[in-house]
Amino acid sequence: MPLSEFEVIRRYFMEATAVREDILLGVGDDAALLRTGSTESLALCMDTMVAGVHFPDDAPPETIGYKALAVNLSDLAAMGARPAWALLALTVPNVEEGWLVAFSAGFYRLARMHDVALVGGDTTRGPLAVTINAAGWVDEGLALRRSGARPGDGIYVTGTLGDAALGLRLWRSGQGDVDEHARQLVERLHRPVPRVRMGRAVLGIASAAIDISDCLCADLGHILKQSGVGAVIESGRLPLSAAMLAKCRGGEARHLALTGGDDYELCLTAAPAVEAALVSVAATSDVPLTRIGRIEAQPGLRILAIDGRPLSLDRFGFDHFGSGAP
Ligand code: ADP
Ligand code: MG
Repeated sequence: MPLSEFEVIRRYFMEATAVREDILLGVGDDAALLRTGSTESLALCMDTMVAGVHFPDDAPPETIGYKALAVNLSDLAAMGARPAWALLALTVPNVEEGWLVAFSAGFYRLARMHDVALVGGDTTRGPLAVTINAAGWVDEGLALRRSGARPGDGIYVTGTLGDAALGLRLWRSGQGDVDEHARQLVERLHRPVPRVRMGRAVLGIASAAIDISDCLCADLGHILKQSGVGAVIESGRLPLSAAMLAKCRGGEARHLALTGGDDYELCLTAAPAVEAALVSVAATSDVPLTRIGRIEAQPGLRILAIDGRPLSLDRFGFDHFGSGAP
């Protein structure tokens, strides 16, 4: 069986060849944290998007430029970091000025919103792919790590889940423009909103965080593994958008919310003692925050159906969430 992405990283790219004192956090979180000598540390992340793999071949170029930066800012948001700079490696099959005008407009639109400066990169010819390396600042002791969840903590998510996965389905079947709901779902796919402000607002409140890029089950799984805990999710609490509910039944919607990727919402954990603080932070931001479950000492991820009965994880293809894994 071919190695999974995570097994490749674990086997080949986690060797601490140069253990430097300025590394606060290396491979394994949403971003690395490097000591700078000031009270703030540098958060560094990188994400690649390949045509036909991470975005549809026919995605509008403006959305490719936007999303390539958005997914990186989402990783910084998951650390509670304040974005500052980006490097852009762009591989294009040929120089098409119209495409570049739209691509760069999408990139800069989001960059301006977050005061991010493009300070370098690389431009090459080849199959369309975009790699961005983003960097930002976060208070050294406060950064949100995947490893801080403790039994009893609540599990929270921002926004709504599953929309991007449904948006992709609609886009692929040529139904992305059939009505307002479809357009909203496709918008969620093409222009995810990195939750930068929320990530910063919960510094010192949340115990752990990750951004939901693969899907809630897999990404919460990283928090569980790195915190050495387990969790229960009540699927009846999953936040679903009106557009999603207009397009599919509740069961299908919850399935998409658990297993669909590309939403770039934040999944946070927080101790019961700070729940009031978390709710008040959420109330002052314009992003909904929903408690969907709790952290438990027993390893593994347990999902409850709306009637409270356990759902079989195999049904979701997540048998690797059995005890001790992933
Ligand atoms: P995310 O989805 O948050 O971007 P990934 O799942 O892509 O995170 O990566 C998990 C961790 O592994 C991150 O800390 C990332 O920096 C690191 N990583 C991924 N690929 C490599 C690689 N080839 N070499 C070193 N570290 C890597
Ligand atoms: Mg991430």
